[in-house]
Amino acid sequence: MSACELCPRVCRADREAGEIGFCGVGSDLRVARIAPHMWEEPCLSGSRGAGAVFFSGCSLRCAFCQNRVLSHSAKGENISDAELLDRVLALAASGVHCIDLVTPTQFSSRLIPILEEIKNKTDLPVVWNSGGYERVETLRSLEGLVDVYLPDFKYASGELAGKYSGAPDYPEVAAEAVAEMYRQVGEFECDGEGIAKKGLILRHLVLPGGRHDSENVLRKLAASLPVGKIRLSLMSQYTPDFAEASPYRELHRRVTSFEYGYVLSVAQELGFEGFCQERSSASGRFTPEF
Ligand code: SF4
Repeated sequence: MSACELCPRVCRADREAGEIGFCGVGSDLRVARIAPHMWEEPCLSGSRGAGAVFFSGCSLRCAFCQNRVLSHSAKGENISDAELLDRVLALAASGVHCIDLVTPTQFSSRLIPILEEIKNKTDLPVVWNSGGYERVETLRSLEGLVDVYLPDFKYASGELAGKYSGAPDYPEVAAEAVAEMYRQVGEFECDGEGIAKKGLILRHLVLPGGRHDSENVLRKLAASLPVGKIRLSLMSQYTPDFAEASPYRELHRRVTSFEYGYVLSVAQELGFEGFCQERSSASGRFTPEF
């Protein structure tokens, strides 16, 4: 019996015995895509792309998720540890700027020996790109293996977190997680080409009707982390296409310019540096720093 407690769901699924966890995956390592990715922040995608590994499954599964085929349905292919290592090393050799592990939390323990091999064989920074819903105990096991933490910080309100992600403890859990992430990697640093070498980049997606919670997220972060030593990535790319079936009517529209501008002005007032998105950009690409 091996009860999984990797993430804050602590659902205790016996994945080794064939059980599937709340996150939608069992014992097999499962990925949806391994390829260069141009749509991360400029300090990660650069000119040649981030070397992205999109893992299947997710322990959050938000109502507005735009990767729901991967997160909610766990679409993907099973892959051996050796094949994942080979494909990541091949991606690294292709010229990408980093190894970008997208939604990796449900495979954390499995990834440790793979990351140790990656660290031995390439100097590229390893990016841990997650929903921010992480256990501190699990993050501690990654110390020294991750260079850039790229977590979301989705909500300040437990009520909203419960409503959209079924995780009313998200605000407290994510606050502890990002503090641990910062403890591990410290001040954000780039190389001479503007590519992130290490640090913490916090992502926040502004939701329709959510500007006051977004403001509370930013105020909470500014009160608990050294604003000048981290980066904020403020996202406006929410689209309602994926929430049409959602019972939450407020998610059936886009974020307005007023809502996004309001949150951006709060970020600037609080002294955050980082990245924002052109609302007119259909691609959702990030623009350079604000
Ligand atoms: S990682 Fe998956 S199986 Fe493990 S505790 Fe979280 S939801 Fe459950």
